[in-house]
Amino acid sequence: MTKAEEKKARKALWKKFVDEKFTILAPDMLPIHFEIFTAVLAAKGLNLKIVPPMGREAKDEGLRTVQNDACYPAIITTGQFVSELKTGKYDLSKTAVIMSQTGGGCRASNYISLIRKAFEKEFPTVPVLSLNFSGLEKLYSIPLDLSTSMKLLYSVMYGDLLMNLVDQAEPYHDREKVQAALRGCLDSLKAQAAHRAFYNAKKNYRMILDAFKDLKPAEERKPRVGIVGEIYVKYSPYANNHLANFLVEQGCEVVYPSLAEFCLYCLYNNINDYKRYGQGKKTVFAFKIAYKLFLRATRNEAKITKEAGFKAYEDFEYVVSEGEKVIDTGVKMGEGWLIPAEMVAYAEGDTKNIVVVQPFGCLPNHIVGKGMVRPVKALVPEANIIPLDFDASSTQVNQENRLKLMLANLRRKP
Ligand code: SF4
Repeated sequence: MTKAEEKKARKALWKKFVDEKFTILAPDMLPIHFEIFTAVLAAKGLNLKIVPPMGREAKDEGLRTVQNDACYPAIITTGQFVSELKTGKYDLSKTAVIMSQTGGGCRASNYISLIRKAFEKEFPTVPVLSLNFSGLEKLYSIPLDLSTSMKLLYSVMYGDLLMNLVDQAEPYHDREKVQAALRGCLDSLKAQAAHRAFYNAKKNYRMILDAFKDLKPAEERKPRVGIVGEIYVKYSPYANNHLANFLVEQGCEVVYPSLAEFCLYCLYNNINDYKRYGQGKKTVFAFKIAYKLFLRATRNEAKITKEAGFKAYEDFEYVVSEGEKVIDTGVKMGEGWLIPAEMVAYAEGDTKNIVVVQPFGCLPNHIVGKGMVRPVKALVPEANIIPLDFDASSTQVNQENRLKLMLANLRRKP
């Protein structure tokens, strides 16, 4: 197929999804962010639906349908799709599923083929689509125009701010009040998703910070616990057995890195590839511009967050410099150098307690996660770091017992 034919076929396929009102199922990950993404895509006519919270059965489906040496995120995301399609709620002739592809060297680039294989017998007509920025799956990747891409980037910023404020508010305030503030902000952002007002970041940051103005953390902070590790398991409450809720119930304040930090990490690696290996000559200019703009956006958000009396996310370039104390930024398989960099940045700041989530079957993140605990502790001896394994067949009780051991060692004062 020539490029022009491919473009035409892709356009026709996506038009069909819009015209025939296909339901496009996506796995859960970041509940706040994904709710905003869904509204942005709905404004483009795409009916994205995040799979609802599931129980043990989706993990069992994953174990049944995916080869058992695949990594935990691959197993459980496939299991969620299969379980959801089996509910009978969907017209299978008008349903598709979508999965992200990183384009990197690890399995995150290959989930699509694992899902297609799992669907072969039971759901052969359900298309498996890709969300990627690497030119993969040309026909089946979501066509994002400039305005939608920009809106998705703004969604990352809004989602990050909301996640940060909820994490700071929940340990100190009534959960219902925090959730009501969150809901109000999400409704307002979703109502703007089809309009230009969505781009007014300053106004929207203020609207969000205003909704949380009476939900500031107490002066005496609870022990802060950072959660770092593989991106899906770190953020998805389903994948990590509601780790953040458990820590809050145990009297801690949870600290998550932002999604923007991960996006900047991806851009940084592309620029680094060019600097080190001359790779990506044609695209490096665009990556550099995107990096600068995104970095500036995170700095603006941090400034306004601090002015409103909340803690902001760490500056990305500070995180890079912290990481360079223990690892080379050429290490980029999986979450690569970002995990140790986040550990050092937390440990040298006021978040000495750190959980590193490790998915079963994930070699890259075992090396840069569990494998880097010792060098980080050598650099910051007072750090209290626990690697926590997640496996489709392990029980929540095992994980909670490991966490309780860590909590027994909590350093109350940073
Ligand atoms: S980083 Fe690990 S968990 Fe994530 S896709 Fe790659 S192998 Fe799987």
